[in-house]
Amino acid sequence: MTAGRNRAAKGGRPETGAILRLLAHSYPDARCGLEFENPVQLLIATILSAQCTDERVNLVTRGLFTRYRTPADYLAVPESQLAEEIRACGLHHSKARSIRDTCRLLVERHGGEVPRRLPKLLALPGVGRKTANVVLANAYGIPTMAVDTHVFRVANRLGLARSNNPEETERQLRRRIPREEWVAAHHRLIRHGREVCTARRPRCGVCRLAPHCHYAAPGGHREVP
Ligand code: SF4
Repeated sequence: MTAGRNRAAKGGRPETGAILRLLAHSYPDARCGLEFENPVQLLIATILSAQCTDERVNLVTRGLFTRYRTPADYLAVPESQLAEEIRACGLHHSKARSIRDTCRLLVERHGGEVPRRLPKLLALPGVGRKTANVVLANAYGIPTMAVDTHVFRVANRLGLARSNNPEETERQLRRRIPREEWVAAHHRLIRHGREVCTARRPRCGVCRLAPHCHYAAPGGHREVP
């Protein structure tokens, strides 16, 4: 990639519209990879997905969700039993504790429902900003920009954001991307991060976004995650 061919040369503004169009063309069907039928299931699945693949979570939840249908069901078994049932997702002891603590609050404060407001979601144990945004967007259709490890890495490499923390990255993406495209852009950035712009070895040589990418610009790779 030469300086002349790369339109995102160091210091320039990335072409947000062009990047979003290329992402849309590359991943038209990108969507949430977790299987769920209601907000409670999505919340549980998202907690389980920390440091685990969506595929593995889905394998576990297909059985789990037939045995546990309401938040109260998770409180009716010992934490150790639930931990064994989700062992394949890793971090099973802490995830079992988070699920039960979260379900307890859902029952005690929210009538067994998942709240639709960000502050109330963030008050639940084991629910961080990314998880809350994923639930709001995918369970309730509320526009959010969830920043996971892929979105954080790809957005900063591209130059859509310039930040060393997910919260500021979220703020910058929300400013830069039209609100109606937040959710789709989130899913497409994740797909791009998994398939092309991987953490250790981004495949810039085959990346359609390279002409718009700061990381691929001369010297750009030294400045971003
Ligand atoms: S793969 Fe390379 S060119 Fe493509 S978005 Fe990632 S860093 Fe940029």
